[in-house]
Amino acid sequence: MKFNENLYKLDTKDCFRICTEKVKEYKTSHPETKVLSLGIGDVSFPVVPYIAKKMEEAVWRQTQNNFIGYGYHFGIPELIKAIKENEYPNFSEDEIYVSDGTKTDAGNLLEMFSKDALVGVYNPTYPIYINSAYSLNRRIEVIDCDSEYNPVVPNKHFDVLYICSPSNPTGINFSTKVLKPIIDYAIAEGCVILYDNVYFSFIESGIKSIYEIENARKCAIEMRSFSKHASFTGVRCSYYVVPNEIHPNINKYWKLRTINRFNGASYIAQVGALASFDKKAKVDIGKNIKYYRKNLNYLRESFSKLGYEICGGTDAPYIWVKCKNDLNSWATFELFLNVLGVVVVPGIIFGSKGDGYFRVSALGKYEDIVEAINRIEKYEKK
Ligand code: PLP
Repeated sequence: MKFNENLYKLDTKDCFRICTEKVKEYKTSHPETKVLSLGIGDVSFPVVPYIAKKMEEAVWRQTQNNFIGYGYHFGIPELIKAIKENEYPNFSEDEIYVSDGTKTDAGNLLEMFSKDALVGVYNPTYPIYINSAYSLNRRIEVIDCDSEYNPVVPNKHFDVLYICSPSNPTGINFSTKVLKPIIDYAIAEGCVILYDNVYFSFIESGIKSIYEIENARKCAIEMRSFSKHASFTGVRCSYYVVPNEIHPNINKYWKLRTINRFNGASYIAQVGALASFDKKAKVDIGKNIKYYRKNLNYLRESFSKLGYEICGGTDAPYIWVKCKNDLNSWATFELFLNVLGVVVVPGIIFGSKGDGYFRVSALGKYEDIVEAINRIEKYEKK
């Protein structure tokens, strides 16, 4: 077998798996300790009942003679229309694609570019971009963020740039001032920005979409997901916008590619996604986001009070915390786990620039977060 040897690189880089294994080992050797996770990347609230009911109706529709089968490669028309009306009124339905998750989309969109295209990924960032590019045998280079963890204008040519904003892991929603020069660079270089905006519903300040910035539609593809917004991490549904302005034939050929490579997101999931735009669902989704926001405020205040340097956490469910006492991120991870039974995510997972930091998440339960902070506080006071 002529194996894709790039896949070997993924194994050594799978630090999330290493964390999970270490936590599992700790739980086995400390059955008496309740392990508290500040590392949670999944949501803790389930799908809201209104959406579940609509999905149930969709299941039963699939037992009828007029069931929905093949044919909706880009998404069911009602959902595309709702996405346009609610989130992208300045784009045509032709430029919107529904899919089964931003993780899938972020990788698959590389199929739009020539094999020798150079892909740029900021350090630190969501590691999936690098791993997807490896899996697809793409040329990839890392670009260090500045000292405030903002992406910078590259000093060489790139064909594709991934930007995650609000950022996983730092929780920062990049400003127009940071993004505008990168957009200008992208237009001048014929580079396309793949803009991962999955945490859009957490944004309180600053821009909600890259398209709020002048000329972004000439160079940016924006991706969003129902995962964190509507607890669809298990249901699976996402969408993205491919603006016609990027290239005259971009949608003609991307549609051909999509018809050949994808049979559409699950109909049931799409009906659920459609329901998330209804007023009744929005009320409950809003309550969940408010709850996570309360967690965020509590975490931000607590870590600051404990003398940690922090950033992010106003527009994304993550806070980026500097390790104390010159510890690196693995040492801090081990200390929190082995001494306190508290899980955080080592910053190095997101790139070398993440070392010396750890990520905490507000997606867990408030009581657990309070208890985790109590343990850290007690330890710090010793
Ligand atoms: N993009 C970022 C930045 C994420 O943090 C995550 C999940 O944590 C995803 C994408 C995955 O999204 P989805 O569930 O839509 O595949």
